[in-house]
Amino acid sequence: MLLAAGRLTRRHVTSQQPLLQVGYVLVRPFTEYSSFPADHRRAAEELVNYKPIAANPQAKKIAVLGGGITGLAAAYELARTIPHASITVYEKSERLGGWLNSEVVPVKGGEIIFEWGARSFRTPRGDGLATTMLLRHLLEEAESSDRRPTIRNHIIAYPPGSGAANDRWIYYPDHLVRLPGPKDGFKLPALWNNIRSFITEPIWRGVFMGMLSEPTKPGRDPELKDESVGEFLTRRFGSAVADNFASAVIHGIYAGDIYKLSVHTAMPLLSHLERHSKEHTVLGELFFNKGGAWKPWHDFVLRELIARKSGHKSANYLEPGGFSTFTDGMSGWTRLLKYPLLNAKRVTIQKSSPVTSLSYKDSKVLVTDASGSAKTFDYAISTLPAKTMRTLVSGSRTFDPIAPATTVMVVNLFYPEGSLTTAVGADGLSGFGYLIPRSVPVEQNPERALGVIFAHNSSGDTGPESVEGLGRRDSWQSPEGCQEVIETLTADQTEMTSKQSEGTQHASLVNLRQLSAYRRRLDQFNAGKVRPDEKIIDRSGQDTVKGAKLTVMLGGHWWDGWSEQDYPSEEEGIQMAKSVLRRHLDIHDNPEVAKAKLQRDCIPQYPVGYRDYMAKVHEEIHSKFEDRLKLAGPFYQGAVGVNDCIKQATWAAMAIRDNRDPTAISRYAEKLEGWVHPGPDAQFPGDSARQT
Ligand SMILES: Cc1cc2nc3c(=O)[nH]c(=O)nc-3n(C[C@H](O)[C@H](O)[C@H](O)COP(=O)(O)OP(=O)(O)OC[C@H]3O[C@@H](n4cnc5c(N)ncnc54)[C@H](O)[C@@H]3O)c2cc1C
Repeated sequence: MLLAAGRLTRRHVTSQQPLLQVGYVLVRPFTEYSSFPADHRRAAEELVNYKPIAANPQAKKIAVLGGGITGLAAAYELARTIPHASITVYEKSERLGGWLNSEVVPVKGGEIIFEWGARSFRTPRGDGLATTMLLRHLLEEAESSDRRPTIRNHIIAYPPGSGAANDRWIYYPDHLVRLPGPKDGFKLPALWNNIRSFITEPIWRGVFMGMLSEPTKPGRDPELKDESVGEFLTRRFGSAVADNFASAVIHGIYAGDIYKLSVHTAMPLLSHLERHSKEHTVLGELFFNKGGAWKPWHDFVLRELIARKSGHKSANYLEPGGFSTFTDGMSGWTRLLKYPLLNAKRVTIQKSSPVTSLSYKDSKVLVTDASGSAKTFDYAISTLPAKTMRTLVSGSRTFDPIAPATTVMVVNLFYPEGSLTTAVGADGLSGFGYLIPRSVPVEQNPERALGVIFAHNSSGDTGPESVEGLGRRDSWQSPEGCQEVIETLTADQTEMTSKQSEGTQHASLVNLRQLSAYRRRLDQFNAGKVRPDEKIIDRSGQDTVKGAKLTVMLGGHWWDGWSEQDYPSEEEGIQMAKSVLRRHLDIHDNPEVAKAKLQRDCIPQYPVGYRDYMAKVHEEIHSKFEDRLKLAGPFYQGAVGVNDCIKQATWAAMAIRDNRDPTAISRYAEKLEGWVHPGPDAQFPGDSARQT
């Protein structure tokens, strides 16, 4: 009917692969399905003829369970787009942010930041549009208030060509090998170094033959729905690619086992290309058919809707392809989201309020917390781990298969400048850091380390000049000016603290680091150590002291099946990390600071068949909560990155606002997992905005 109405045009149709043009886009379902479901036709029509609709009038009271990045982003999006809704965020702990957890650590002469969870987010490309949009809204919001620090000054962005983004290493079998960087191009000496590495380094043995022979490998068994990443890569490219490279990358993202993680979920594009290609060659599709442009249908729809809803505007102050963080670490996300949320009258954030049960009656979601208080809501978004949801949803069994998560020991160490007596590592600890593949012999890695991050290279500028100044030129120039600022900030702090304790919900607007910088500056004046004409520089980095800041990640899937008493203590973790650094980087010196944290069940592991398991979760939630409970967060979205969290948070909020997608994960239950590919001259609203 839509075809007849001319809204969708059928470019060409073969009996196996109907190819449809929707607006600028060619849509092709997987080959094993012959039909193009009505739902997708409706979605396609909706996209092509999108018109803004009024926010769902039933969404008056909404609960958000969990105050990590997913919950906070969802709450912000709900508050921004549903003007009549009141929103309550339930957070178990006293701290917001979940796995975004940056600690300010005092060291001699200043302070540095240690990350205990995520340390950066990929700078958004097309499918990170939700992050770009969130940052843009937060930026506008912050800049409209003269008292708040601007976001722009607090973003540390590493473009794709920068050393931190371009230089990555793999440890194999007993030394560091640099991987060719995306921005190496054909420039000497990078080209020469790469050729020399290909010829001499054992890590490459078997890799080129595996790649070259890929087109000759037999096609996929049509009965095979999913398999592990390791099995897929070994089947197509050989074991060297799987064990020497992919296992290292998977250690870096999931701390996981490539022979357990679902390829369909962890590497969906490669899996799709094999299914899609007539010749079943993944590399052929990638290099000769613009295979990298395929997008899952769901991602495409979300991206397009965001672009349309935002009037095709986009933010382009982050160069796509690199990565970013904030001057106060990844907790910067929490700070930025907290200001507007805590100061919005319609939003209540309940910290120290673990949710203890969740039920549904008479079109209301009933949320009970540990204090015994039970409240009803029209809708809820849960971002809680699958293990927690299993206990909250009475009689649930469907969460079990998706509940496994790896436990990681994170060890942070700081060596002040000049304190390392050895010239460490190849090229003196440059680049992002190194990952350790599963194929490294155990005697080279008895501690079962997953990788080491050279965190000082991704913390912005380091040293006192990177954080002093803070832009208040006049006050910075004299002891009297400093004194005045200190008094104002201290008074603000006292006022805000009392308002917070009264529960009047004001976020602390006082920048404590700013306060301490002014105090330090005044001390310098008093000691006669400051030149009044000293240059003022806005904050541009995390650490006020130069040095090597290293993060060692231990355990992950190597500790699968361990019980609580098997894990190393934090002190043992520090000793293990030092031993890794001694063996791999020849570091024998003692760090000034070393701290460790055991992060239990922190990264979800997507089992083979994850999509089918998620379909069952969708069915259960749909049958028990109708369309009133939506799921978001890494356990449910099949990806763990901060961008993925923000994307699914945005989708869940949109699902409530626009009254669509009953669980926000119904895509898993669709028989057809649609993928879309832009036509030859495709121009998306988001793209054109980003180019301007
Ligand atoms: C060590 C590590 C390194 C990582 N590195 C990166 C990286 O570099 N880049 C990247 O993009 N991603 C990274 N990630 C992934 C990313 O940090 C996470 O996927 C993301 O932070 C998850 O956010 P979330 O809000 O969905 O979940 P969480 O952060 O887990 O938040 C859930 C919140 O719910 C609360 N909660 C739990 N139970 C209850 C309850 N019963 N009631 C109320 N509240 C409850 C928790 O206290 C928590 O605050 C990393 C993750 C880890 C663990």
